[in-house]
Amino acid sequence: MKPCFCYDAIVVGTGAAGYNAACRLKEDGKKSVAIVTEGVNVGTSRNTGSDKQTYYKLGLSGEQADSVRKMAGDLFAGGSVDGDNALCEAALSARCFLHLCELGVPFPVNRYGEYVGYKTDHDPFERATSAGPLTSKFMTECLEREAKRLEVPVFDHLLAVEVLKEENGVCGLLCLDTEKGTFVLFRTPNVVLATGGPAGIYADSVYPACHTGTSSLALEAGASLQNMTEWQYGLASVSPRWNVSGTYMQVLPRFVSVDDKGVEHDFLADYFSDRYEALSAVFLKGYQWPFDSRKVLHGSSVIDLLVYRERVLKRRRVFLDFTKNPFGLTEIDFERLSPEAFSYLQRAEACFGTPIERLQAMNAPAVELYAEKGVDISKTPLEIALCAQHNNGGIAVDKWWQTSVCGLFAAGECAGTHGVARPGGSALNAGQVGSLRAAQYISESNRTVTEETFEKVAKEVLARHSAFCENALKNNNNVREKTAACTRRMSDFGGAIREPSSLRSALQETEREKNSLSSVGVDGKKSLSELYKLKDILCVQCAVLAAFLDFSEKVKGARGSALYYDERGELREGLDECFRFLLASGTTGKVQEVRMEEGKFVTSWRDVRPIPNGGDVFETVWRQYRENKNIY
Ligand SMILES: Cc1cc2nc3c(=O)[nH]c(=O)nc-3n(C[C@H](O)[C@H](O)[C@H](O)COP(=O)(O)OP(=O)(O)OC[C@H]3O[C@@H](n4cnc5c(N)ncnc54)[C@H](O)[C@@H]3O)c2cc1C
Repeated sequence: MKPCFCYDAIVVGTGAAGYNAACRLKEDGKKSVAIVTEGVNVGTSRNTGSDKQTYYKLGLSGEQADSVRKMAGDLFAGGSVDGDNALCEAALSARCFLHLCELGVPFPVNRYGEYVGYKTDHDPFERATSAGPLTSKFMTECLEREAKRLEVPVFDHLLAVEVLKEENGVCGLLCLDTEKGTFVLFRTPNVVLATGGPAGIYADSVYPACHTGTSSLALEAGASLQNMTEWQYGLASVSPRWNVSGTYMQVLPRFVSVDDKGVEHDFLADYFSDRYEALSAVFLKGYQWPFDSRKVLHGSSVIDLLVYRERVLKRRRVFLDFTKNPFGLTEIDFERLSPEAFSYLQRAEACFGTPIERLQAMNAPAVELYAEKGVDISKTPLEIALCAQHNNGGIAVDKWWQTSVCGLFAAGECAGTHGVARPGGSALNAGQVGSLRAAQYISESNRTVTEETFEKVAKEVLARHSAFCENALKNNNNVREKTAACTRRMSDFGGAIREPSSLRSALQETEREKNSLSSVGVDGKKSLSELYKLKDILCVQCAVLAAFLDFSEKVKGARGSALYYDERGELREGLDECFRFLLASGTTGKVQEVRMEEGKFVTSWRDVRPIPNGGDVFETVWRQYRENKNIY
């Protein structure tokens, strides 16, 4: 039998959630733990950011009284959220946030030590804070330093490819050494997936290019995904990948599309008869960044649809041009903008010049950011698309972030604890809380795995994977073109605009490709990781498309981040027929789940778990805590 490593827990991933899970386990000192990662420096946390990257926590400043219950209620109000997860995310938010502060994340305080907050979307309090555009990078670096201090072993360049299971739950993990193309085995009763969002399924994406995610590990182990219909999509530049939110929109850039003959189209002018109405909608996009079906008929999300129409339906490339004012205007008559846009730009002393001149005046770092990434937006137009940024759904977990498979946990963006809407910044908080909860549970768990059980399972799994790879090494190399084609198809037919018959054919095609993986080839052992990524992408795409299709058939309406075509629905004047839709109602008390059964993707619906009742008495809690009953 191939030698293996043995630990009480293996954490998969070196993002903010993965490092935290490992640190918390190690701090507790009861269990041995190691991290495996496809790349220490890979992942969304370390490689992304935005204008003011936000962390959402309990209010810790000012006069407005906040409480755990209020915060849990606000998280729950996002719709299709489980109340126990919401309560934990609220209850542990201050502890997790202060842990990050202690580790050195530079969250700002006033001169009295208050963590002064601001309001983010879906946030009635000022619970949000930020350490700047690279908050999640700072978090990851501080947690990595802590993991080093605690001497957590990190196995780099290992891609987890299968969770090993015996009758009662997890018994190990199989990884591919991405540099050598060989396999590495771990014997363990606990695996924490902190593999990030399933970013790899989309071509049009603002996730960092290095990050793809691996949610299929959970599906293939028998766990469910939930709320996979819920995403955040918004306008972003495609190279480099960065959100064009905030000031990038408020300075009123010129939107232009270019067809395959090189002809430019002023497509906003073609749609809006009133140019100042168009400019006001562009301005609003600045702080209404994610696409929102409720803001299509009368609001700024029509801009997202117009960009999608150019790029996907008309097959044109779309650019933001900061060098000229839109619609050939030499000067903008700012007073003709909406009162909100005019007063904001007036207060910012930005009622002059061209978009780039306004951007330099209002937010010079926003120009420098692109310059640092090699793009001079004062000279070059910036290519954009309607991109996927975040998956609100994910792997279904209980109140300890354990999946339905005993010993298999999910934390961070791969866990599906958000619903239809979430307050901006709550993803980073959920990642810290979920990883802490999983670590707490594992620390008290008695699960073990015998060598004999493990070896029996490992032998079969290893033989299967070895045969899969040997076959791919013999086939003609086509893994990259297959990956490019399936991610393009997903962005065209399975993004924010969902039309039932296109979803059905995309699902059929994706299932067909998933079932014919044996015809895919790679050009050498070092490319085997690309084969496994394609395998993951196709599996997750099938689950996501099955969820979309089921939603379109059962709910027949749009909510949050997507439109589902409905011939009975409303259509904003001047838009194409495929943008006709109805708004859904009454679905937010339910959670949709999708799982794999004998290779097929099966969906089901359940009621949300309510927020648990409060009313605990200190003495009871204390006694139970001493007896450790609170863990189970
Ligand atoms: C542009 C942008 C802006 C954002 N802004 C905000 C914001 O303001 N506030 C907020 O709360 N959230 C924001 N988010 C979301 C947030 O950044 C992510 O949800 C979060 O960073 C994910 O952290 P994570 O630890 O779960 O995963 P990641 O940081 O993505 O880490 C995943 C890790 O798993 C590893 N991995 C994956 N699969 C495998 C495998 N099979 N084997 C081994 N290793 C594997 C990767 O190498 C990586 O180390 C934003 C996201 C984007 C893209």
